[in-house]
Amino acid sequence: MTESTDLAPIREAVRALCANFPAEYWRRLDRERAYPEEFVAALTKAGFLAALIPEEFDGSGLTMSAATAIMEEIQASGCNGAACHAQMYTMGTLLRHGSAEQKVRYLPAIARGELRLQAFGVTEPASGTDTLNLRTTAVRDGDHYIVNGQKIWTSRAEHSDLMLLLARTTPRAEVKSRTGGLSVFLVDMRAAKGKGLTIRPIRTMMNHATTEVFFEKMRVPADNLIGAEGDGFRYILSGMNAERILIAAECIGDAKWFIGKATGYAREREVFGRAIGQNQGVQFPIARAYIGMRAAELMVHEAAALYEAGKECGAEANMAKHLAAEASWAAADMCVQTHGGFGFAEEFDIERKFRETRLYTVAPISTNLILSYIAEHVLDLPRSY
Ligand SMILES: Cc1cc2nc3c(=O)[nH]c(=O)nc-3n(C[C@H](O)[C@H](O)[C@H](O)COP(=O)(O)OP(=O)(O)OC[C@H]3O[C@@H](n4cnc5c(N)ncnc54)[C@H](O)[C@@H]3O)c2cc1C
Repeated sequence: MTESTDLAPIREAVRALCANFPAEYWRRLDRERAYPEEFVAALTKAGFLAALIPEEFDGSGLTMSAATAIMEEIQASGCNGAACHAQMYTMGTLLRHGSAEQKVRYLPAIARGELRLQAFGVTEPASGTDTLNLRTTAVRDGDHYIVNGQKIWTSRAEHSDLMLLLARTTPRAEVKSRTGGLSVFLVDMRAAKGKGLTIRPIRTMMNHATTEVFFEKMRVPADNLIGAEGDGFRYILSGMNAERILIAAECIGDAKWFIGKATGYAREREVFGRAIGQNQGVQFPIARAYIGMRAAELMVHEAAALYEAGKECGAEANMAKHLAAEASWAAADMCVQTHGGFGFAEEFDIERKFRETRLYTVAPISTNLILSYIAEHVLDLPRSY
């Protein structure tokens, strides 16, 4: 499956924008663990982060394929879309399951960048991947819910106005179905900070603006419940395909960046009187990384095409994420090897991108959980958990 050529102008426009944010910009932010405010503002102004918001809500109304092209180009340009990718897909839960009033109230402001919906509070320290076992509770109290608990790895919480929060509204022992009893809320963090909401940054090996978030008797208006109480797990799951496809596209962009760097260097670097790229021992790992990237790219296109046709794409979205994350990591490793010692030098940017792309075989879903999904939901093997 090849991409339709009408995405070429979008790709070109993203590349032109990214050219204003060269490697020195990212290097400085990485050193300071600072947030790329200017980059995110430029992407927002250009409408790229509102790609998937329909035009009736002031969004760009683009397809999933166009959105993947945007994320891929950002990464392939050497920029870091992890600073803002959630603004593109987190609103999907609101779009699909929110009330008409909620959509009109929030989506146009999100599309214009006046409201940042960058934070997604699902993972907790105790339950980890076992989302159904999460402990944060939201208990109805008149026209509010009272939230108590903790989230971890809530990325960009300090750079977001709103958070999409998953919390338990019915104790696990009282629910009929194992996936019931969880609810989704749109939390206005501007109102809640200092009033039951505390955000603490977590310093990580790459510049990712991730945090842990504590809720202590935090009041959330009942109007901010999305959809029906107790159905939240289903709503969150329905948004995961978009997240997986977009992050897979980022990995494809990363892999292209690493492969580009490696081929360029292998052509120019001379050792023993000839270009290192003339040695098959150097060529073959680059070729192998390229093959892996291209195969993963096909699966990303397949998943995006199914998604935008409104077809079931859980398996393809998971496989795309898996293949692309493996491909970008393999390409990163190959790129370091191709550069020898310079692969470790800050000014070559490879070590930074290497640290950044390492994340994607772990988050937003780890490799084992994807393998388990394919084994049990596609191949009909017995459930392991
Ligand atoms: C930088 C960063 C940013 C993140 N951003 C967000 C965010 O914005 N919002 C959010 O909600 N979460 C976020 N996450 C959380 C991320 O989604 C989780 O880290 C990831 O899903 C893995 O969960 P865990 O860390 O709890 O690992 P665990 O669930 O503790 O698992 C640890 C390891 O055991 C394996 N494992 C666990 N159970 C099984 C099993 N049954 N079979 C086989 N293997 C198993 C896992 O694959 C993993 O390798 C982020 C994480 C990081 C590191």
